[in-house]
Amino acid sequence: MNSELRYHQTLGEWVLIAPRRQDGKKKPNEFKKYLSIERKPSPLKTCPFEDENLKRSGNFPPYFWFPETKPLEKWSLQVLPNKFPALEKISDCRIEKRGIYFVARGVGSHDLVITRNHFHSFGDLKNQEAEEVFLAFQKRFRQLALNKKIAYISIFCNWGPQAGASIFHPHYQIIGLPVIPHSVSRSLLISKDYFRKNKRCIHCDVLKEEMKEKKRIVYENKNYLAFVPFASKEPFWVSVFPKKHQPFFEDLSQKDLKEAALVVKKILALIKRKLNDPDYNFFIHTAPLIEKKKHTHYHWHLEIVPKSNISAGFELGTGIEINPVFPEEAARFLKSK
Ligand SMILES: [Zn+2]
Ligand SMILES: [Zn+2]
Repeated sequence: MNSELRYHQTLGEWVLIAPRRQDGKKKPNEFKKYLSIERKPSPLKTCPFEDENLKRSGNFPPYFWFPETKPLEKWSLQVLPNKFPALEKISDCRIEKRGIYFVARGVGSHDLVITRNHFHSFGDLKNQEAEEVFLAFQKRFRQLALNKKIAYISIFCNWGPQAGASIFHPHYQIIGLPVIPHSVSRSLLISKDYFRKNKRCIHCDVLKEEMKEKKRIVYENKNYLAFVPFASKEPFWVSVFPKKHQPFFEDLSQKDLKEAALVVKKILALIKRKLNDPDYNFFIHTAPLIEKKKHTHYHWHLEIVPKSNISAGFELGTGIEINPVFPEEAARFLKSK
């Protein structure tokens, strides 16, 4: 297949889909080699999350744990402050001038969600455990949202060293920022502009198109759609969207939240099986906390990105990612028996 420059509708950027020439002869199964890596579990002895009450972790006490009705030692999930936060505790965030430059103190919040089993990543969790992770995401999100200095909350998972995880034990991170990050504000602007012109949500239209074309769908049920984006920036990138228009992750009902968790679990289990257990990131995109009424045109979603190629000079120099696998082929491969 010839290469194609594809425009990402909601990110507003070009992606170069260019299969490597030597890949032309590859059987689909050999895609695994792009992604397979060796990830060694750390010994239980040295894991900071292996004592019953997490005192060894250095971030005691937790904000909360599940099951809420049981004593701490019976925890299946805990939400804790990060021992090495990327940001200082939320306080005043004034932007100052330093010569021609602008500086703000790195303030915000940085929390961890820890699941109990040392070896089980999200795709390996039992249904109830996966649901608990999403319930914890939302519970902590709502607590942080009470702080008026937090403008945006980012929820994400780094699984494996290639995906940026510094500890092996499965964990998820929640960062509260005093500013709206660039990629979110750009996506907000693009969707706002589209809404003004068409009186429709751009993401809802993308979902309609994907359900019509069916070529890039990986999984679908009544309420959720998981697909490889048309201009996917990485091979086997999977987007998970609620079919119903919903801007705010924090406003999901418990039922919708649990269902989202199970869809994500399903996709990650599929990626593990089909792509030889790669490292991955996933992250949630939701509307900002400030001026909520202005962002009702947004549509929350979750992106899953198995780790594969490293950005090189062309990507850094142009911002254009090169993806060696056509999204249609990636979807077909993930769905194949
Ligand atoms: Zn552990
Ligand atoms: Zn929508």
